[in-house]
Amino acid sequence: MRASPAAPTRSYKQSVGRRLFYTHLWVGLALALAVALYFYFAAEQALGSAYDDRLIEATRALGLVLDQEQLKQTRAPPALQQQLVGLTSRHRLLSEAVIYDRSYGSLRVWASSGTTPTEAIPLPPIDEAEMREKVYKLDGELPRALMALSADRLLLVRADLHELDDYLLQLRRNGAVAFIVAVLLSALMASVLARDARRILKRFALRCQQIAEGRYQSEDDTPPLAEFAEFADSLEAMAGRLARTDAERSSALAQAETASAKLEDNVRERTAELDRLNVLLRKEIEQRCQLEAVLAEAAATDPLTRLLNRRGMLELLEQLAERTHRQRRHFCVAIADIDHFKRINDTHGHAMGDGVLAAVAERLRTDLKANEEAARWGGEEFLLVWPDLPLADAERRADSLRQGLSSQALLNDGPVITLSFGLAEYSGLDTLDACLVRADRALYRAKEAGRNRVMVN
Ligand code: GH3
Ligand code: MG
Ligand code: MG
Repeated sequence: MRASPAAPTRSYKQSVGRRLFYTHLWVGLALALAVALYFYFAAEQALGSAYDDRLIEATRALGLVLDQEQLKQTRAPPALQQQLVGLTSRHRLLSEAVIYDRSYGSLRVWASSGTTPTEAIPLPPIDEAEMREKVYKLDGELPRALMALSADRLLLVRADLHELDDYLLQLRRNGAVAFIVAVLLSALMASVLARDARRILKRFALRCQQIAEGRYQSEDDTPPLAEFAEFADSLEAMAGRLARTDAERSSALAQAETASAKLEDNVRERTAELDRLNVLLRKEIEQRCQLEAVLAEAAATDPLTRLLNRRGMLELLEQLAERTHRQRRHFCVAIADIDHFKRINDTHGHAMGDGVLAAVAERLRTDLKANEEAARWGGEEFLLVWPDLPLADAERRADSLRQGLSSQALLNDGPVITLSFGLAEYSGLDTLDACLVRADRALYRAKEAGRNRVMVN
């Protein structure tokens, strides 16, 4: 199962379509403007030139229709004056015609169709041979033409600009309409081009998206535009490569999953085996611990009396001595020895001796309080330890035991016995051994003093 790629959340400066649209629009506008300006100025020039030609022709025609005889007269005949007025008013191009007299060296109006005052006109050099043929176009604000009618008469014709202005206005209007049409066409073309470019890009973007989603097989059979053929081929080649890589990866993944499942099975089996072995091991350790505890207890217990043996008691005493140093506490030890025990063996037999030993031990055990302990210290010797008991109280406890033990026979048909006690206190001032020696010496003194008593050292 392929994970679909997350949609990118990027911001873009401008879309390609919009950029193409504006680029084409500006190019179209610039072209339309350039063409419009070129044609406008060309038309204006052509119009001006045609207008000048017409003015020249009109002037020539006007000059030719004037009567030479009338022109020779000193004063302009009224008929000629009227002819001038009639000709200029009939001709749309002409606004005024003036005939100058230059016979006296200066220019003066000889006849005129209007009332324009005399103006200074630059006189071109007029060739007599070209008279009544050549027309001179004069420069100036208003188009004017000059023609020599005779040696003394000059015809000046002024043009009427209204027609030209109308033409130019019409030209400008048409130009403006053509420009607007060109702008609209540019916008239309730009829009079509941008849409086409967008469609091509969209198609490639869609294909890229399909490839990104793992749909490597193309669903669009439309052949791409020639310019994009190479790009489209590269894209499909890339899709093909990706498809192959994807297939290889899927196969490798499946193999890895199979191997992983196998490995997991093996691990499960091994783990179960290890768990089983662990259970066995734990059981064995438990048994060993129990055995060790039994052995340790046996090692520290006297089998006959079930009391601690000498070794067990010594361990306990060392712990108590160590605690005494640490916590400034003390304890009392009492060594109890059965008096003339040898005689009991001798008189009642060894078995009775053993029974007496066990009975004494049982009696001592029942007298013990919390934290107190009793041990079989030697053959017929016992050691009692009383932590935190003051020496005087310990002496009373020992004496009480002594009396209790000797008050009657411990066993049926058994002998009445007595015990001697040697008592010592350990408060950390000397060693544990020294303390035991002191207790032993006290016992010795109790024996020496006649037995069945308690002595303190
Ligand atoms: P005293 O009053 O001076 O202590 O005299 P006693 O006879 O008790 O002391 P002695 O040391 O002369 O004798 C101790 C006897 O205890 C010798 C030995 O046979 C006996 N004995 C030691 N261990 C055992 C035992 O486990 N069982 C029996 N039945 N007797 C034992
Ligand atoms: Mg004895
Ligand atoms: Mg003894």
